[in-house]
Amino acid sequence: MLWLTLIGLALLCTGIGYGFSRLSASGNQSDVLVERINDCLPQTQCAQCNFPGCRPYAEAIATGQANINQCPPGGDSTIEALAEVLGVPVVALNVDYGTHKEPQVAFIDEAACIGCTLCIPPCPVDAIIGSTKLMHTVIAEDCTGCELCIEPCPVDCISLVPAKPEVSQWRYPKPARAHD
Ligand code: SF4
Ligand code: SF4
Ligand code: SF4
Repeated sequence: MLWLTLIGLALLCTGIGYGFSRLSASGNQSDVLVERINDCLPQTQCAQCNFPGCRPYAEAIATGQANINQCPPGGDSTIEALAEVLGVPVVALNVDYGTHKEPQVAFIDEAACIGCTLCIPPCPVDAIIGSTKLMHTVIAEDCTGCELCIEPCPVDCISLVPAKPEVSQWRYPKPARAHD
């Protein structure tokens, strides 16, 4: 009788182990999908997609809770990349979430800044430095141009300026030909 009980316990443990490994495998697959989707997103962390950041939006797409056309900073190129990853048709950007703009960064007019620090908490990437009652400044290399610091500033001393292209994006102008 004892050996029958032991065999039963062994079978039960094997079954539970198999169930956990199946769950873990499907969890890994969905993690991989979320990562692939997240890699297509511009990481601006602006929340215009109605999710608190790019990864939550990626998770929502992976579970079918969001469409692929809700990211204005990514625009058409992001939609195309997402469509390829998911094997779905390319669709137009849903302008209810905003319109696509060229890359931009925040700039603080340091002479006008009163050092209230209100712009620091909304910045999702800690790109603003400064202390209470001292002027603040933006670390342009870290700024994603998300615009979340604009509205909290009580003296409107933050503006957005075009981002300089990175070296990898820079192209020589096409040389003019002699007969042009
Ligand atoms: S709108 Fe795009 S860039 Fe902004 S948080 Fe959502 S996915 Fe990220
Ligand atoms: S500095 Fe402003 S625009 Fe730049 S990432 Fe931070 S909150 Fe966004
Ligand atoms: S919110 Fe405006 S005034 Fe206040 S610290 Fe930031 S830039 Fe300066």
